[in-house]
Amino acid sequence: MTGPVLAVDVGGTKLAAAVVEPDGTLRDRVTVPTPADGQKAAAALDRLAREVAAKGPAGRLVGLGVGSAGPLDLNAGTVSPVNITDWRPFPILDALRPVLPGRPAVLAGDGQCMALGEYWRGGYTTRAMLGMVVSTGVGGGLVLDGRIHPGVTGNAGHIGHIVVDLDGPPCPCGGRGCVEAIASGPR
Ligand SMILES: [Zn+2]
Repeated sequence: MTGPVLAVDVGGTKLAAAVVEPDGTLRDRVTVPTPADGQKAAAALDRLAREVAAKGPAGRLVGLGVGSAGPLDLNAGTVSPVNITDWRPFPILDALRPVLPGRPAVLAGDGQCMALGEYWRGGYTTRAMLGMVVSTGVGGGLVLDGRIHPGVTGNAGHIGHIVVDLDGPPCPCGGRGCVEAIASGPR
């Protein structure tokens, strides 16, 4: 199955959606700030996805891909982004499936999506890579033998919440001294 897909990105600062063509070309990209309120965030996400799906040739969109800030539960199709505190957890695939009824919807961590995209389009010749996203938080993803490596729950390679300083600053995850608490963009 090849064709353009609807791509949705859920971050701590912004929500984004776009159409991605089979060659990786991105078009019809729209972003909005991420509401901190969970219900407002869910409504904004739905509006955004529908807006982009309506711009593109909706009949040609073969599926929906979601990259979200973690942690996430791949088996349940839910996400619990640290910065959207009402989403504990949020059934993001169930929420977005009605945008493209009857077509597949898949979920992965945003760091994993970034790592895979970078590996795919970045001209790498290595067989394995760890991609790191330094943004509102710190995310990460593993590509092994050219494939995304999500792990059992979908959180493999999510290095932002590894503790690197036991006496470090508190982290939104409840821990202390995480990579994210020390090295995120706002830090
Ligand atoms: Zn943390």
